[in-house]
Amino acid sequence: MDKIFQNKLVLEILEKYKVIWSIEHAMALLSWDSETYMPEDGVGERSVAVSQLDLLKQKFITEEDFIKLVDRASEEKDLNEYELGLLRVLNRAIRIYRLLPPRLIEELAKVTEEAKIVWRNARINNNFKAFEPYLEKIFSLSKECADYLGYKEHPYDALLDLYEEGLTSKDVTQIFDSIKYRLKTVLEKIESEKEFSERHPLEDIEYDKDSMRKVNFWVAERLGYDRKRFRIDVSAHPFTIHMGLRDARITTRYEGKDFKSTLFSVIHEYGHALYGLQHNEAFMFTPLANGASLGVHESQSRFWENIIGRSMQFCTAIYPFLKENLSFLEKYSVEDVYRYFNIVRPTLIRVDADEVTYNFHILLRYELEKLTLAGEVKVQDLPTLWNSMIEDVLGVRPKTDSEGVLQDIHWSLGSIGYFPTYTIGTILSAQLRSHILKDVPNFYEKISRLEFNEIKEWLKNKVHYWGSMYPPKELLKRMLGEELNPEYFISYLEKKYLGKSI
Ligand code: MG
Repeated sequence: MDKIFQNKLVLEILEKYKVIWSIEHAMALLSWDSETYMPEDGVGERSVAVSQLDLLKQKFITEEDFIKLVDRASEEKDLNEYELGLLRVLNRAIRIYRLLPPRLIEELAKVTEEAKIVWRNARINNNFKAFEPYLEKIFSLSKECADYLGYKEHPYDALLDLYEEGLTSKDVTQIFDSIKYRLKTVLEKIESEKEFSERHPLEDIEYDKDSMRKVNFWVAERLGYDRKRFRIDVSAHPFTIHMGLRDARITTRYEGKDFKSTLFSVIHEYGHALYGLQHNEAFMFTPLANGASLGVHESQSRFWENIIGRSMQFCTAIYPFLKENLSFLEKYSVEDVYRYFNIVRPTLIRVDADEVTYNFHILLRYELEKLTLAGEVKVQDLPTLWNSMIEDVLGVRPKTDSEGVLQDIHWSLGSIGYFPTYTIGTILSAQLRSHILKDVPNFYEKISRLEFNEIKEWLKNKVHYWGSMYPPKELLKRMLGEELNPEYFISYLEKKYLGKSI
């Protein structure tokens, strides 16, 4: 392996950083465990363990000697770009952890660990009232965080920056303004043509969970799932977590019907997992072994889920295996299955939403989070407001809070400001598609042969390898030669759903 870190002070920093890395490693494992296998009553003790580890991490990052070392290294001449990237990431972490009082970190870690379980049960029992006090606490602690972190225009900006460095609510509003009317037009045309919008019988057909599991693992293997570096488990909300460069874990859920939901969760999370498995190996044990941002991360999962997974070529390639293992598919042609994978219709649940309506779900959450954080909306009013807003935007109204305000895990995790990164990622995935079409000859033919090596290599070279070396906006400029551009996404949808060939 090339010695990419050479500066003496940088090497000293990395030696010290190993303990911080190890705390993060342990916290990742605890987080994975609490969403997969931990018995419910373990939550009280777990929440103390997690909050104490978070405090310990803060202590090491803000230790005077460590900060001095980082300061001294930052003044060194002749640092290479890896070393500069490393110091940029560390300085950012130091800045954030210095601004937040330990009491706030501890409280937030504790309440969110408990809230995860409360949310899970509130969703099952359709009981917002049970979750409400936790959500109130989470919003008020998040507002405190925003105040400590500082912002120019809106407290939301401070939180956004934690997930998508440099992104402001002004940017987000501008992005939504540039896509929402055009998305509406695409949606109306699709609805008037009916081909993709009509209810599909496969949406209601129940599957056998063992057979479905077999299909999921088979598809993951075709994509490149390597059992030595990868696990697939079950959780209430599908997610990916990286333990390190050689240990990625994803989850899916089996709801018993509408099989595309569990299948596309696997493909989506595979995209996240691959990102972390393809970082530069020299980033092991360093803070560079991370994605550039959550938006960039989501571009990878959406690329695999939508650009590859929902293509006619992919659908045709996996169809024979699906038919062999899911007996109810016997009556359905490959075109039927393709149409089922690509249904476009306003629905209530974000994770199952199609490519066209998906961003409206994000817009709704973005607006509600901003209003609540600024104190313009009370947490107790969120369920009603949610229902009327989704009805305004998509014309559908939840009958229960479980299919409305309680559907996502994010708020229980304290992830306020996270949702907009999904829209960034969705837009970026279509932008990546346009670039890969130019660089990888016969892209779609390769998909139809389930040959992904060249595609993975391209993603590695453009995105994965660089870890968190560059802030997201800079990564895009360096790798694609341009900024985030929603135009690619809209024209991809128009071509795909409105009859123009892609
Ligand atoms: Mg994702």
